[in-house]
Amino acid sequence: MLFPQAAHQRNGQHPYYTTFLPKTYMTASLLDGKAIALDLRAQYRKQVAALTARGQRPGLAVVLVGENPASQVYVRNKVRACDEAGMYSENIVLPADVRLEEVIERIEALNRDPRIHGILVQLPLPPQLDEARVLATVSAQKDVDGFHTENVGALALGNPRFVPCTPKGVMVLLERAGIDPRGREAVVVGRSNIVGKPMARLLLAADATVTVCHSKTRDLAAHTRRADILVVAIGRAMMITGDMVKPGAVVIDVGMNRRADGTLCGDVDFASVRPVASWITPVPGGVGPMTIAMLLANTIEAAQQAADRDEGYLAD
Ligand code: NDP
Repeated sequence: MLFPQAAHQRNGQHPYYTTFLPKTYMTASLLDGKAIALDLRAQYRKQVAALTARGQRPGLAVVLVGENPASQVYVRNKVRACDEAGMYSENIVLPADVRLEEVIERIEALNRDPRIHGILVQLPLPPQLDEARVLATVSAQKDVDGFHTENVGALALGNPRFVPCTPKGVMVLLERAGIDPRGREAVVVGRSNIVGKPMARLLLAADATVTVCHSKTRDLAAHTRRADILVVAIGRAMMITGDMVKPGAVVIDVGMNRRADGTLCGDVDFASVRPVASWITPVPGGVGPMTIAMLLANTIEAAQQAADRDEGYLAD
């Protein structure tokens, strides 16, 4: 078994790896992001109360451009999570045809607003808006999504400040399950700036040996089958199947895909992978709740830094 914390073993015939595991096979334990996120959010409420008492109630502004229904749901969930934690929040909704100059002006006003510690621009933006320009406008000190060049650079140099919420949440999930990436083969499928690249950097910083796969990777399964820790962020429903997974691997499914019937599924085929893996995240209820929890964590951190600056403990 790869990981000592792995799930109970069952007697029986392994569906894919009869040559490797002739007598027993495992069924993966669930990495329950929903429960872990709830636990964290209870802690965050206390931190928010303490910062509020110091005169620095953490505040998040969410900027939504257009009427993308999925984005509207994500924004609603984020604002609700802030409210429940006792944080201040602002939801700024701009029309889909808004001009770049106006978006920039609104973000600059938020940069100056002392009630706001974190600014999140919900992606994707409509095509007429230059995404890089918009993200670069967010003050690096309020960039709780970790997308600003300064924060990306800080992470790349191994001195992270604000780390993108989804990969940060994955690292917390691993930690909570007692899974140490040190010396392990980690394979990340997907190389987006939001998930894949920062995920790879965090795993590398945690001393894993990291491979990043993408749409041009030849023989994807040859890579995924080597992974002790497999993180999948592709955006294609149930693409990773049990025969692509090493027995005993930890499988983290970042994907969120909507089926024709409206239900959600991941990038991992849960039914065929669970009997092979030692740990697996469900979709929904795995990585998604952790992303929101990490957004709260980053906003609280930003408010903490603002309080320290105000009180002279931290330079501007
Ligand atoms: P992107 O579309 O930005 O990136 C997808 C990545 O997958 C790209 O790097 C792409 O490669 C790669 N890819 C596409 N097809 C293949 C293939 N056949 N084989 C190998 N790699 C492939 O997506 P995101 O990173 O933003 O999101 C990925 C998934 O995660 C989505 O389902 C999204 O909804 C979900 N998500 C979930 C979050 C959560 O909180 N749970 C948060 C953020 C995202 P290439 O670079 O070559 O094009």
